[in-house]
Amino acid sequence: MATVTSMKCACEKCLCVVSLEDAIAKDGKYYCCEACANGHPNDQDCQQKECGCS
Ligand SMILES: [Zn+2]
Ligand SMILES: [Zn+2]
Ligand SMILES: [Zn+2]
Repeated sequence: MATVTSMKCACEKCLCVVSLEDAIAKDGKYYCCEACANGHPNDQDCQQKECGCS
């Protein structure tokens, strides 16, 4: 059976795709970075600066 190993970051505007191994799990969702996981406090940038999801 195939296992899903990567998925889109749960941050709504984020387009990053993260592998489950590297993802930051929070409240049952997976995020690409701490900034996304925490909802971009203080306009903290995404790990992918070009992403612009913050
Ligand atoms: Zn992002
Ligand atoms: Zn993200
Ligand atoms: Zn984000």
